[in-house]
Amino acid sequence: PLDGAEKLANLVGANNREIRVQATDDVSLSLNRGEVLGVVGESGCGKSTLGRTVAGIHEATSGDIVWKGKALSQMTSRERKAYVLAVQMIFQDPFSSLNPRKRIVQAVSEAPVAHGLISRRERDDYTVEMLNRVGLDPSLRDRFPHQFSGGQRQRIGIARALAVNPEFLVCDESIAALDVSIQAQIINLFMDLREELDLTYMFISHDLSVVRHISDRVAIMYLGRVVELAPTSELFAKPLHPYAEALLAEAPDLRAGKRTFHPIKGEVPSPLNPPSGCHFHPRCPQATEICKAVKPELREVAPGRQAACHLLSDAA
Ligand code: SF4
Ligand code: MG
Repeated sequence: PLDGAEKLANLVGANNREIRVQATDDVSLSLNRGEVLGVVGESGCGKSTLGRTVAGIHEATSGDIVWKGKALSQMTSRERKAYVLAVQMIFQDPFSSLNPRKRIVQAVSEAPVAHGLISRRERDDYTVEMLNRVGLDPSLRDRFPHQFSGGQRQRIGIARALAVNPEFLVCDESIAALDVSIQAQIINLFMDLREELDLTYMFISHDLSVVRHISDRVAIMYLGRVVELAPTSELFAKPLHPYAEALLAEAPDLRAGKRTFHPIKGEVPSPLNPPSGCHFHPRCPQATEICKAVKPELREVAPGRQAACHLLSDAA
């Protein structure tokens, strides 16, 4: 249902001054219902911006998002409101989005009440239902956020998102701050919810082993562009793009349970001033002259596999 979100821009504020960074550019992805799309890359590659744009938190400066056949730019305000509810974001730190002075029952029920999904009278029962759904003891609903552990707070964050009946969850490093044993529990919760509620996920993470475990397909991003997009098992068996290859090679102990990759040689260049042609050329061991001059397009290079690299020939 999602398609053609290109040239997305990130607005970051220092002293509330708006700086426009072309953090993601020419991103074109589509997801199928019920699918988990993993999005990986080093920090600063535009993963979060992509997620926030998809969730309607950032506005795309050009290009569009197509949801169930309708472009965001063509939607009436009513349709747009429905889209914003249908796509919910789960952040790394749910605590920052939970008001410390509000009880859990308020945190979970305020959006559905505000959007007319439930009445005020139904708040309590509805919260109990949502907390049960995420495996939290509903008798704790009158407590405040600080009375919960990190894992419990993430469950509250998920309950809050589920309370508006989403169809699509964008998870941005949603388990990164949790202990490994808790991470596994939250991942299992996400996967159970996928079954129960027919949810679709964009799962943004720097953790290759987690992404490999839960994703149907993986998009590898580099400096705002998707450089490879492939079914998970095929990607891990044989990455095609030199950056994907380097990322996976830097995680040799993936099987031994080592959880994160080391950044590959050289710094990630600033998205304010990205290298010409292929953004990866200054770090690419296989770069040639054309790589400095011409931007490689993301295209099908083998059946079901897309990559953006001059070395790879067009499957068509
Ligand atoms: Fe390397 Fe050139 Fe391919 Fe970019 S286009 S990844 S620089 S070979
Ligand atoms: Mg990020």
